[in-house]
Amino acid sequence: MTARGDNAHWAARSHAAVWHPCTQMKRHEASPPVPIARASGAWLHDYEGRRYLDAVGSWWVNLFGHANPRINAALRTQLDTLEHVMLAGFTHAPVIELSERLAALAPWLSHAFYGSDGASATEIALKMSFHCWRERGVRGKDHYVRLAGGYHGETVGALSVTDVPIFRDAYAPLLRPHPVLPSPGVHDVGTPAADRACDEAIDALARFLDEHAAATSALIVEPLVQGARGMAMYGARYLAAARELTARHGVHLIVDEIMTGFGRTGTMFAFQQAAITPDFLCLSKGITGGYLPLSCVLTNEAIYASFYDDDVTRGFLHSHSYTGNALACRAALAVLDIFRDDDVIAANRDKALRWRHMAEPVVAHPRVHAFRQCGMIVAFDVARAGGDFAQRFANEALRRELVLRPIGSTVYFMPPYTLTDDEFTFLVARTLETLDAA
Ligand SMILES: *Cc1c(COP(=O)(O)O)cnc(C)c1O
Repeated sequence: MTARGDNAHWAARSHAAVWHPCTQMKRHEASPPVPIARASGAWLHDYEGRRYLDAVGSWWVNLFGHANPRINAALRTQLDTLEHVMLAGFTHAPVIELSERLAALAPWLSHAFYGSDGASATEIALKMSFHCWRERGVRGKDHYVRLAGGYHGETVGALSVTDVPIFRDAYAPLLRPHPVLPSPGVHDVGTPAADRACDEAIDALARFLDEHAAATSALIVEPLVQGARGMAMYGARYLAAARELTARHGVHLIVDEIMTGFGRTGTMFAFQQAAITPDFLCLSKGITGGYLPLSCVLTNEAIYASFYDDDVTRGFLHSHSYTGNALACRAALAVLDIFRDDDVIAANRDKALRWRHMAEPVVAHPRVHAFRQCGMIVAFDVARAGGDFAQRFANEALRRELVLRPIGSTVYFMPPYTLTDDEFTFLVARTLETLDAA
């Protein structure tokens, strides 16, 4: 193995053979993908001895660092025991234990249905909601209602409840026109305008349901933080109101915690901050600590019971080949062990406060405004960003050993929880340099 030029070698081969996600491939002519040879803790290492701090948790999935010894050990043991078996007609210890432990974390949500990616969890929840009403003899609920700027994945069904134009526009004719309501999410948190946005969103939902509940199967929301919208945040009172209104009008509430779940917002699940119980809870991303694709929809006894019948076709006949994959479930169990053994939620409360304090130089930077934090998510907007800011900032950050991928003019940190204080200080210092350069 040579050292020099190895990055270029891998990048060229990748450009020729791999179609990268969420990417205009022509852009890789100017900024080739960074080939990663190995990773450990919060650090990614390329083929030329350079390292990069993974400040976005590899697209919001990594909780406890790369090559985590405890998750690795659990996977090694599972690998020698059972890698996978189809979950129709068969079952296995990891999927049983995981389902029991998730149900214990989210009381009332006692049944777990598995998929592979976040988008497949969205699809499952949408289909289950619609099908459930049908099983109960309720007809006409053939729409979902969604929030402005919401993101729930990019398969055709999930995209139809997503409201991010850059992902939707090319496919618009394929997407059913589900109604969109004003969102409570804002960048300027803690302001009177934020309060007003929340009031208006609640009023709009109330008015919508008064008129359209009979045609509406479910409301789907990202609780507390709308990630893809640029880390727009809102208070728990919207969730409480949405729960109350949907329950009153006979409309399901689907809570998409694919990004917010597993401690990101400070509690295990964001919906817990509103002390509500959703009808469907979608989980993915952090569920395996960023190791393997796995998603899950949890639902309650009553919804489960409406499918339970002698008639096969009244069952939920949905499947993915890798549903309940044993390795992925084992990784998820190892993640839950870490949460329990290290009392992660409590430790993160202190860590989130320290991050706020250590981020003070960012808050004080003249180009930074709308600094906001929700648990282990830190975000801020950059003034005078100009065209192509996100790409330029990401490139300048990489030169300074940081992986940061702004959304528009919003820069955010979503690092592994295992980031040390020294590493966070490094992240802040290099972010300030990047702000001055980009
Ligand atoms: C990432 C994400 C999804 C989609 O998950 P994929 O695994 O990318 O399909 C859905 N909803 C939210 C809130 C997400 O952040």
